[in-house]
Amino acid sequence: MSPDILLKVKDKLTNNFKLTDKQTTDFLELFSRYKKGQLIYPGAFIRKTYLSMSVVYKILEDISSSGVLERNFEVFCPSCSRYTGGLFSTLKDIPEELECDECETPLNFLDNSLVVYKVVLD
Ligand SMILES: [Zn+2]
Repeated sequence: MSPDILLKVKDKLTNNFKLTDKQTTDFLELFSRYKKGQLIYPGAFIRKTYLSMSVVYKILEDISSSGVLERNFEVFCPSCSRYTGGLFSTLKDIPEELECDECETPLNFLDNSLVVYKVVLD
């Protein structure tokens, strides 16, 4: 991430979300490692900052609104705990008939999709 973007994100964390200094530092430390094209899994930020899931999602949505990230849906297989690799921009883009490549478990786009954020600007 460029220093420019990190500065903007820092402003958001401080002004819009009232994070503590430590939470801000931890969030930015992790965020700075991402490069264009990479996927951000909100869980990584929850583990790193101890913020609640809803706050982490709100922050990532806020960063998306400034064009740095793009929200996508990824299909996750609960049986073998892996992502199937397909990335969809909206829920309705996910095929209704879907199964895991690995274990052939039938997957449902509503229950088995997770929100991830793709870095589109770094
Ligand atoms: Zn599977």
